[in-house]
Amino acid sequence: MIKQFNDKEYTWEGVDTLVYKQDGSPFKDVTRQVLFNGSFDIPCQFRYFEVKPGGYSTLEHHEHTHMVMIFRGQGQCLLGTTVTDVKVGDFIEIPSHTIHQFRANKGDYLGFLCLVNIDRDEVKIPDAAQIEELKTNPVVKEFLESC
Ligand code: MN
Repeated sequence: MIKQFNDKEYTWEGVDTLVYKQDGSPFKDVTRQVLFNGSFDIPCQFRYFEVKPGGYSTLEHHEHTHMVMIFRGQGQCLLGTTVTDVKVGDFIEIPSHTIHQFRANKGDYLGFLCLVNIDRDEVKIPDAAQIEELKTNPVVKEFLESC
């Protein structure tokens, strides 16, 4: 099956553009498109997430792993206690139990492809005390307050 890509809209033929999350977790200006929803021998979802300029994904952690490739624009990624500039083509592996967040904080869109297992644990949000702990790192503090 071929789903043709629209390079003006960053959409794929026949694929709905959805709200990023519907679990009440905090995020800003993120959409989700599910390109592939698993097959008997590939029990994975392949999604495209897009963060508008100034937006951000949920600050979260969980047991399941992500494989991410930046597909549009640029921004920054928090991975553990490391903040890294990311742009089109960069590949990011997010291991188990590692806090992560994507921010479109470079005046540009930040779109990324993300592979995840169909069978996965629920996302966990750090509590206020954990966020304060994270912010003891000045680089992480600046990142979290950058949008
Ligand atoms: Mn995640």
